Amino acid sequence: MRTGINHFQRCPGCGNFAIHFAINAAIKELNILSKDILVVSGIGCSGKMAQYIPGYSVEALHGRAIPFAIGAKLANPKLNVLVYAGDGDAYGIGLAHFIHACRRDIDLTYIVADNENYALTTGQTSPTTPLHQKTHSEPEGTHVAPIYPVQLAETVGCGYNISVSSKDLAKMKEVIIEGIHHKGFSHIHIDQLCPSYRDW
Ligand code: SF4
Repeated sequence: MRTGINHFQRCPGCGNFAIHFAINAAIKELNILSKDILVVSGIGCSGKMAQYIPGYSVEALHGRAIPFAIGAKLANPKLNVLVYAGDGDAYGIGLAHFIHACRRDIDLTYIVADNENYALTTGQTSPTTPLHQKTHSEPEGTHVAPIYPVQLAETVGCGYNISVSSKDLAKMKEVIIEGIHHKGFSHIHIDQLCPSYRDW
């Protein structure tokens, strides 16, 4: 269990600051004790979030946060299990886990910070980068259409499925609370500011 970390490895203006604040505010409002929460993250700029939320934390393999979280939830159904990932992690390497978790309706709260690029590795094309957008990996523009995660989750039966902006603190807190309350798999897509690499 980790508590009390107050040095955050993020760029100034990163949307992860506001999302972090919203998660903490939701946990506080729900009176969830740190012993009753597990945050599992994958790899990327989002990966550190598990360490920054007071409670049990795991920084899992890239794209593999969901299977780890499912195991923890099955072992201890009373645990509040939050999964935190970025777009590359959630909708790229971890996409199959996401689809099947929606289908199986496992009781997890899946928060995805979508900055539409692989920011930790300096701005390459991710699965949600807009078509024709210039990135560090495709300087002449992407040539593959993005996936639309909320629509995708809907087609595979996700019971709680919503998109919000990292600029809207109150709405983020509200939907995180709803996601935690929801008995089943909840997908909270957050359109995330990334001033360092997302200039669109
Ligand atoms: S690169 Fe982007 S997502 Fe990563 S910490 Fe900086 S602003 Fe945040």
